[in-house]
Amino acid sequence: MTPKTAKKKAAPKAAPGTARSHKRVYYFGDGKADGRAEMKALLGGKGANLAEMVSLGIPVPAGFTISTEACTEFNAAGGKLSSAVKADVLRSLARIEKSMKRGFGDSSHPLLLSVRSGARASMPGMMDTVLNLGLNDKSVEGLASQADPRFAYDSYRRFISMYGDVVLGVHMESFKNRLEALKDERAIDLDTELTAEDWKELVREYLEVVREHTGKPFPQDPHDQLWGAIAAVFRSWENDRAKTYRKLNNIPSWWGTAVNVQAMVFGNKGDDCATGVAFTRNPATGERVFYGEYLKNAQGEDVVAGIRTPQPINKANRGSDQAHLPTLEEEMPAAFRDLVRIYKKLEQHYRDMQDIEFTIEHGKLWMLQTRTGKRTVRAAVKIAVDMAKERLITKEEAIERIDPKALDQLLHPTFDPKAKRDVLARGLSASPGAATGNVVLHADEAEARAKAGEKVILVRAETSPEDIHGMNAAQGILTGRGGLTSHAAVVARGMGKCCVAGCGALRIDPEKGEIQFEGQVVKVGEPISLDGTTGEVMRGRVPTVTPELGGEFAELMKWADVVRKLRVRTNADTPHDAEIARQFGAEGIGLCRTEHMFFEPNRILAVREMILASDTAERQKALDKLLPMQRSDFVGIFQAMDGLPVTIRLLDPPLHEFLPQEDEGIREVAKALGTDMAHVRAKIDSLREFNPMLGHRGCRLGITFPEIYRMQVRAISEAARQVAEKGVKVHPEIMIPLVAHVEELKRLRAAAEEEIEKVFSKHKGTKVRPTIGTMIELPRAALCADHIAAYADFFSFGTNDLTQMTYGLSRDDAGRFLDVYIETGILDHDPFVSIDEEGIGALIQMGVERGRKTRPHLKVGICGEHGGDPKSVKFCARIGLDYVSCSPYRVPVARLAAAQAAVEAKAASRRARAPRS
Ligand code: ADP
Ligand code: MG
Ligand code: MG
Repeated sequence: MTPKTAKKKAAPKAAPGTARSHKRVYYFGDGKADGRAEMKALLGGKGANLAEMVSLGIPVPAGFTISTEACTEFNAAGGKLSSAVKADVLRSLARIEKSMKRGFGDSSHPLLLSVRSGARASMPGMMDTVLNLGLNDKSVEGLASQADPRFAYDSYRRFISMYGDVVLGVHMESFKNRLEALKDERAIDLDTELTAEDWKELVREYLEVVREHTGKPFPQDPHDQLWGAIAAVFRSWENDRAKTYRKLNNIPSWWGTAVNVQAMVFGNKGDDCATGVAFTRNPATGERVFYGEYLKNAQGEDVVAGIRTPQPINKANRGSDQAHLPTLEEEMPAAFRDLVRIYKKLEQHYRDMQDIEFTIEHGKLWMLQTRTGKRTVRAAVKIAVDMAKERLITKEEAIERIDPKALDQLLHPTFDPKAKRDVLARGLSASPGAATGNVVLHADEAEARAKAGEKVILVRAETSPEDIHGMNAAQGILTGRGGLTSHAAVVARGMGKCCVAGCGALRIDPEKGEIQFEGQVVKVGEPISLDGTTGEVMRGRVPTVTPELGGEFAELMKWADVVRKLRVRTNADTPHDAEIARQFGAEGIGLCRTEHMFFEPNRILAVREMILASDTAERQKALDKLLPMQRSDFVGIFQAMDGLPVTIRLLDPPLHEFLPQEDEGIREVAKALGTDMAHVRAKIDSLREFNPMLGHRGCRLGITFPEIYRMQVRAISEAARQVAEKGVKVHPEIMIPLVAHVEELKRLRAAAEEEIEKVFSKHKGTKVRPTIGTMIELPRAALCADHIAAYADFFSFGTNDLTQMTYGLSRDDAGRFLDVYIETGILDHDPFVSIDEEGIGALIQMGVERGRKTRPHLKVGICGEHGGDPKSVKFCARIGLDYVSCSPYRVPVARLAAAQAAVEAKAASRRARAPRS
């Protein structure tokens, strides 16, 4: 609060226990503002940044922001604005009138207003804006005689339709239909070709549309208009579009929206006027090039609505359909220079890429919005790394700016460069990625088909907020109109979806159920492929490959590796997975599941023989067949992980998982074992368990069938010896699963050591003896970790089972009720996705502490799915684990999350050291 307003309006005392201010209306204009950029929770993003721009001396039309608190109060009061807020609004309105030297409701020099919503987080296209408020039948004539009639009637018809749509609930379509009909009648394509008389006629029709739909005349009193618009914006927080968007983006409904009321400036007053939008850097690639589009003689959202092809701001980044158009730099050089100066100032000030809106009125530039620009992950990485190099931000800030989860998109496949491309057309590369799917033309259909498991591409002339659910369901989006700032492009980037926009050659024929590209036809339901990086639209399904990760990504990861303390390993069962993970920066294998190898078609029979053997001798025969196979698996993996540790888990799942269900398989085993099918069936039945996850599995198999684990230990040891002799640096770690009691580990360890000794006794020179550790995945093991650690060289927390066992929550059955738990807020997340820190996390911490009490240098890691979840990775870093292990594609995600954890820890210790003020 500025001292001045504080004096003017002695705020009543706050209710006991509340520290909230009673200020609800924040003025900005003429270089001074009540608000600041940090006040987004209260003023919304738009309002806070308008205030900040004013304070920076940037030209912004005067206005005021009604706070989000007022929105909450408004909706709580059943849609009523308090008289205190109303009085403040009127006071601020008087200040705008003074600043703009125009009167609100004046019939010859009317002050016109925009009423704009703005929540804390930007919600593109979600909330509604009303422009040119204050016009009525009388003042439009004043404006027409005093300025230009065409401009006056154009502004009025825009106002009637926006107000009609947002406030009075008249469908925008009804207005649009009239406009289209008039254009048809006049046989013209563009709005700009309509004359003042045409607009005047349209105004009459629009007023009639309103009367027809509402049964009342269009409100003529500017103050009524204003209260109506403010109420509508507050109400719009609860509309379906806003709700859907909130749900998709995890925005809580209690935030509310602010309302910004601001003097209008006009981009539709002639050819020295324009309106535009820009990004201070390319939002798709991150390149440091100013990118933007504008339309001459236009207002508001004309640029993004695809009404005309917008012109490029400068030559860089010009789209294919814009090649012949002049630029703002050429047409309005002075305004362009101002724009460049301002965008640079904004980027320096906010230290991030900005998404800006501006309007030029008779050559003078006005800024209407700035916000941190949405960008693709690829762009986010490039911008963060570039800005760190420009010294605008630190390397640590660069690390913190990237959402580790979003890296996933970068790691995902792109089109195989060697594949043949049947290119139908080319559009703008609005959001990168490789998408393949069947053509659909409507959002509802996209959603329905996607639900049925089909992969679809949503094809539209342009998209609007009504299409969000369809875009969300589609693999990719193709539009015929619009640039990098169009609705489709902005939303697709936000969703991390591939999008090709402004594909000029695209014709959509809903009647025939097809799309055409200069004579080439694709029917609805047929596949196309979109390359969001090149903008190519291709026929059919183009095959994909794993991406190469060089450039800024590699650089960022290097910085992350310097900062982080937590190691990142991978879960890999094959040499191929191991290689991919290594390319992604894995520092070892944290979990190699031996049973996955058992499922190979040429092995499963031997495995079944082993399980169904009627005595030890028969079992040993089957194991002898398996030994060389296992050994060769490990040789491959050890070679791939040369120099890095490899943790191999001995057989874990219940045996029945390997057994045949079909006659075919049963016959085969019976033959191999020299017995009959009935005998095999009986054996299978005898192995059936009521509760296999708590049954005969894990180390319990090693206890009852010691020869199985012995075979596996031997295979590991022999493989290690064999590769070591060839010069491979091998660090095998044998991991015993599902240990609950120290006696289990004690005995199995002794057996394993015996087997290792047999392999290495004749090879005294080789120093590659496997270490032996255990998984901690049963609550009892965590509780008794001090005893267990006596026999374990390392612990690996199997957080999937540990969660399942501690929560008493079956992973395979939880789907039925877990969703309800999350929807109703009993749980705020799925404990199988992010570690439940309070419960399972406490158990892990206890296990680590007790384990290290016995063995201070005990190596500890985790190897559940959680190892690739950023939140869980940070938790593991905080409690001092040595490593996490995750699937190969998640390795970079975990590396970045681990680095962020280190940066956060540093910041926390700085805070702790700083003297309290
Ligand atoms: P959104 O949140 O959808 O971007 P805005 O409130 O920013 O909605 O406004 C919609 C359009 O109206 C934008 O193009 C904006 O630049 C334009 N606009 C808003 N206020 C004014 C104003 N005071 N003068 C001129 N144009 C305006
Ligand atoms: Mg809008
Ligand atoms: Mg805007």
